[in-house]
Amino acid sequence: MNQSIKVIAFDADDTLWSNEPFFQEVEKQYADLLKSYGTPKEISAALFQTEMGNLKLLGYGAKAFTISMVETALRISEQKITANDIQRIVHLGKSLLQLPIDLLPGVKDTLKTLKENGKYKLVVATKGDLLDQENKLERSGLSPYFDHIEVMSDKTEKEYIRMLNILQITPSELLMVGNSLKSDIQPVLTLGGYGIHIPFEVMWKHEVVDTFTHERMKQIKRFDDLLPLLTDTATVHF
Ligand SMILES: [Mg+2]
Repeated sequence: MNQSIKVIAFDADDTLWSNEPFFQEVEKQYADLLKSYGTPKEISAALFQTEMGNLKLLGYGAKAFTISMVETALRISEQKITANDIQRIVHLGKSLLQLPIDLLPGVKDTLKTLKENGKYKLVVATKGDLLDQENKLERSGLSPYFDHIEVMSDKTEKEYIRMLNILQITPSELLMVGNSLKSDIQPVLTLGGYGIHIPFEVMWKHEVVDTFTHERMKQIKRFDDLLPLLTDTATVHF
């Protein structure tokens, strides 16, 4: 069964490059800007509440985050926030669309080896804004290693099924690699696929779930720990 894997799909944010630390830094500056309306903890909690309320309509990514920051600022200031401060919040949000791409250790060499190895089709499976994710991939310099890019509105089972259909593979032919058990691993395991979890240093609280073990999942520490699992022999050892 392990030999069934044909496609390796990689999550992007906090799997190929760091992302969440930039959002946390922006949130820190945002809380500082709004400090006359609450403590950083209160402002973060209010922002998270807005984000969760907006998720269905706005989805994930920097643009949704920016709208949620503006909305939260208006709410907690009881509409007293100045136009100048709204401008600064929009600027903070837009800075997330032009981040430097900070590749995680071992990512480039590992992808290069897997690509040269030629055994698996390599795919990026990410959620968020289409244009932002495409731009980040372009800036990362990793595009040549991937056969397909899939930007999903959310990482639900339904969305993964859609991706399997596009790739014309069955669930047991998919191995998903990512930092989020909730988004990258759980739905793929439920469908019958394989997962490799690479925890990242920080996690957005919306993505936090209890850890678990599964016969079709492995956890590794670093991205380049993938290579011994995928290239040593003809099979993936689960
Ligand atoms: Mg991720």
